[in-house]
Amino acid sequence: MEEDQANNIIIFPFMAQGHIIPFLALALHLESKLERLPNLTITFLGTPLNVAKLRSSLPPSTALRLVNLPFRPSDHGLPPDAENTDALPYPLVVRLLHASTSLRDPFRDLLLGLVSGGRKPLCVIGDIFFGWTATVCRELGIFHAVFSGASGFGLACYYSLWVNLPHRKKPESVEFSLPDFQEGSPVHVSQLPMNILEADGTDLWSLFQAANLSAWVESNGILFNTVAEFDSVGLSYFRQKLGVEVWAVGPVLLSAKSRRSTTPSRGAGAGPDQCIAWLDTKPPKSVLYVSFGSMNTITAPHMMELATALESSGRDFIWVVRPPVGHDINAEFDAGAWLPEGFERKIAGRGLLVERWAPQAEILAHGAVAAFLTHCGWNSVLEALSNGVPLLGWPMAAEQSFNARLLEGGGVGACVEVARGRRCEVRGEELREKIEMAMGDTERGREMRSRAEEAREMIQSATRDDDDDDDDAGGQRRKRGSSARALDEFI
Ligand code: UDP
Repeated sequence: MEEDQANNIIIFPFMAQGHIIPFLALALHLESKLERLPNLTITFLGTPLNVAKLRSSLPPSTALRLVNLPFRPSDHGLPPDAENTDALPYPLVVRLLHASTSLRDPFRDLLLGLVSGGRKPLCVIGDIFFGWTATVCRELGIFHAVFSGASGFGLACYYSLWVNLPHRKKPESVEFSLPDFQEGSPVHVSQLPMNILEADGTDLWSLFQAANLSAWVESNGILFNTVAEFDSVGLSYFRQKLGVEVWAVGPVLLSAKSRRSTTPSRGAGAGPDQCIAWLDTKPPKSVLYVSFGSMNTITAPHMMELATALESSGRDFIWVVRPPVGHDINAEFDAGAWLPEGFERKIAGRGLLVERWAPQAEILAHGAVAAFLTHCGWNSVLEALSNGVPLLGWPMAAEQSFNARLLEGGGVGACVEVARGRRCEVRGEELREKIEMAMGDTERGREMRSRAEEAREMIQSATRDDDDDDDDAGGQRRKRGSSARALDEFI
């Protein structure tokens, strides 16, 4: 059988949209780049429900093989269908992380079966939360790479914080230096995600990360969905700290079509067509898009302040509204119940409320979008910058504050932080002022727009490939980009 001689690449993401989406993008990208490799197979591993969902809607052109490993959430005290974070309250995410380590044995059995059948995979690409995949690969002599959907800088800060616990005794008002970033990088305590601030080495997050991160040294390297030109500090950090290879190959992004396969089935609000039809009625660069990613949400008082800001800004907007912090994400959801009285009437025609999930990539690629109020999840950032859309940052968790910092700083400069965390005090009037600063005819607004445009050009150059080779206006041969070259090196 031809497949028996296949060059098999195994790709294995953690079960959350922010991980499945970039892994799927990477799988499809590798497939397109490696089509000349004889008998190449790319196997995408997942759990039964996630695989069933992907199977029903992958692009017909792909030969990607989907394989599921047994996983029963209820064995781990999770709701029976909680195979990913889509419908999981945020505090249960850490339980899903612990539960995911039960995939280790079936994963090892799968690899052992391949090795003993003479079909040793070319390589395994595992998630930043699946350090154990590196340990198994080292044991079986299989090349392993971690794939990070997070930025180099964000992940470097996040890694450094976890391996240098605890941080909880730091006074609220004080800035301190990250142990591994002595120069020029004081961090304010409010930038620490709550799970890190509360971690003491014995809690569920600490225990998970201690085992997870210590296994990374067993990997052969780390692939980053980022661009070396604006994210070199974090990349160097991992080269030095872990002594592994590092490749910045991004951004790899899912096309709108493939992306529909990852849309959560539950509670998807306005469909892609409705959002795009609405945007089509708006002038170029006039709309603010507001979304906090696939897992995060803001508090009920924050929703009120944000609504006030959006209403008084006079700007057109799309807001992806999710149940506020502390409320059942699965329950029937009436967005109006969390918004000021008469809000929907007042913003009619000017604001589109989308419940729970919007076609984000398509929205950000639409010419009517002027700016993005985001939690600074790295996928969201890449999707925005690839379209030259400037950012208003409201980081909430994980490495998002550090992404915001990378984006605000000299390297990118296309972001202004408007709020921080779930516990911060946010006033509608201040938010309105920042929205006006970013979207209006202000000096900072103009600068952000021009820096976002520069970032878009940087991304375009970094991802320039052989297939795109042509001459520029001056007849000069354009060079292949850094991300395309890094992917070659990896291959
Ligand atoms: N996403 C989307 N629609 C939504 C919310 C999120 O398509 O309403 C997608 C978004 O385009 C991105 C991913 O989900 O690709 C979220 O990843 P990110 O790293 O931004 O944040 P996370 O959800 O991991 O916190």
